Amino acid sequence: MREGLVRGLEDSYRQVHLDFHTSPLIPDVAADFNPEEFADTLSRASVNSVTVFAKCHHGMSYYDTRVGVKHPSLRIDLLKEMVDACHRRGIRVAAYYSVCWDSYMGEEHPEWLQVDRSGVPVRPRPFERPYYSWETLCLNTPYVDYVEAQVREVLSGYDVDGVFLDIVVQRRPGCLCRFCRSSMDRLGMDYADEEELRRHSRMIEERFMARMWRLVRETRPNATLFFNGASNLNMARLAEKYLTHFEIESLPTGPWGYYHFPLYARYLRNFGKPIVGMTGRFHLSWADFGGLKPAAQLVYEAARILAHGAAVSIGDQMHPRGRLDEAVYNTIGEAYRVVERVEELVRGSEPLYEAAILALPRSRGADAYVFPEGGFGIDDSLAGAVKILLEEKIQFNVIDHLMDFDRYKLLIIPDFGLLDDNTKQKIAEYISRGGRIIFSYKATLEDGEFKIPGIGLNPVDSDRYDVDFIRVGPQISQGIPQGFDIAMYGSGVYTRLEDGVALAWIREPYFRRSYKTYTSHTYSPAARDSESPAITLSRDGKILYIYSPIFAAYYKYGYWLHARILRNCLDLMLKDRLVYPTLPPTSETYLWRRQDSLIIHLVNYQSMRIGRHPEYMGEYTPYSSLRLRVRTAKEPRRIYSYLDGRELNFNFSAGVVDFVLDAPDIYEILVLEGAA
Ligand SMILES: [Zn+2]
Repeated sequence: MREGLVRGLEDSYRQVHLDFHTSPLIPDVAADFNPEEFADTLSRASVNSVTVFAKCHHGMSYYDTRVGVKHPSLRIDLLKEMVDACHRRGIRVAAYYSVCWDSYMGEEHPEWLQVDRSGVPVRPRPFERPYYSWETLCLNTPYVDYVEAQVREVLSGYDVDGVFLDIVVQRRPGCLCRFCRSSMDRLGMDYADEEELRRHSRMIEERFMARMWRLVRETRPNATLFFNGASNLNMARLAEKYLTHFEIESLPTGPWGYYHFPLYARYLRNFGKPIVGMTGRFHLSWADFGGLKPAAQLVYEAARILAHGAAVSIGDQMHPRGRLDEAVYNTIGEAYRVVERVEELVRGSEPLYEAAILALPRSRGADAYVFPEGGFGIDDSLAGAVKILLEEKIQFNVIDHLMDFDRYKLLIIPDFGLLDDNTKQKIAEYISRGGRIIFSYKATLEDGEFKIPGIGLNPVDSDRYDVDFIRVGPQISQGIPQGFDIAMYGSGVYTRLEDGVALAWIREPYFRRSYKTYTSHTYSPAARDSESPAITLSRDGKILYIYSPIFAAYYKYGYWLHARILRNCLDLMLKDRLVYPTLPPTSETYLWRRQDSLIIHLVNYQSMRIGRHPEYMGEYTPYSSLRLRVRTAKEPRRIYSYLDGRELNFNFSAGVVDFVLDAPDIYEILVLEGAA
């Protein structure tokens, strides 16, 4: 089974997710809609799959429903006209349906709303309308019958190719509506207990997904089905039984940022289901009607999604009057003309790996969750690990403790996570077979000891100061100023080294900053050596430990000296890297194998610096040249650029191909024939 590749959606690498949340106050919905013009605009932009609206967050339907409420100003069956016009042009169509967010039903049936732990229904406060705030209905109430009846109506009445069920999510830890309280009572579960609430939430979500899965299989067996929300990283193992593929909603200029997608894609691709990566055309995030990305940035984002082996989906929102914007589709078209030329190559390839980020459970018990819950699913420590590995061009996956370790030469456990006995045994076997581990801060720390076998290190105390410092020894000093006290922007676990080698030492400040003890504006400078090592290597050289939450700090502060420290540690622990870091940090490199060829996706980013908003790429000026040094199984017969066909000269020695690429564009694909 190939990983991360779209099956069932075979040719749908160029999708648009067309949002259409439209208030019932808007008087002229679809007044300008012309089905032929609509589908032509998509076609001209090389879009071959579109997700259009059956029902929105306002609870309004955009088709002739007998069950729900059609938008009051909509005069036509918009869904039918969209489906038919798109199908006439060979464009695949999925129907979007907002599940837990439905303002209309929330007003009609307040007794079906989810209820938080203070007993308050989850709905907007009357005089506040924050960005993400809708009436949120509970999946454990009769509301689900309404949802099922509407989804059935869509599946049986319309020739849709798939269903996208949005906001399938019970709030965490759990809902305390009267339906949930009585079902927990029946199940003997205690709703004062957060873990029980969380377990109940998962049960409710799973029951809903199973019900929708049966419905789709009965009514349109070939349709795709996806649940947005319930397929977060913690739910993926449960959800994957009920969905045909994963879609990763991840608008990098919105709250998700640029490290959310790689984290999700590299974890979810372990499940062997097709993946769709969803970005947006907006300058900011959803419903930024007048916000449009420069084409360069959209090409970059599409390239990055493709380079992960995923299909591309670009989020747009149609104007209420029903016309697609020419400017938007000109920009989308620029990105999709690139995708069109590459998708065939992606379809037949498989990724190479050398390392994995191992996410361990953060809590104990049968319902322990591996990834932090809530927010937009971005954890600083995991995101920091993704950031440094991308910058270092290391080929990696993100895995949990139940997945195979032996495919990787190096495992990285960033900052946190607990080891159960089985995983501890698995780690011991992995190390005995030659595996290497880097872990940091409180990862595997429990009951006053690190659970990684053979580490030779005893914790003394932790978080002694607000900020402390380290000085590195010669083994990891490459590129680091001698004798400089590097701020770690936090403290860490002070230890006593019993067996092994110290590679760096902690330097303590004068004192922790407080109302009594403070000096100058931020933290106190380094005052003395501590008795504790900062970075240690086990005696056998297989386990490296870093005392501070350096991955989280790197995500938060992006300090270049933290990157140097991490690079030097990676160099020590991952011999014979696949790609040498000769490229700038903003050039991401993805290695794939296709038959006997090695394929390199090189994706280049150049950021604009602007105020408070996340960086973006206004335009792209090619570097004069970039040098690549890549380890290959064999000497290539030839190297050529997949996109423009030019052949490249190269040297091959000691298993490493060395070549220079002149004037690289945003997206370059290099085929090393015979090298895999
Ligand atoms: Zn409930």
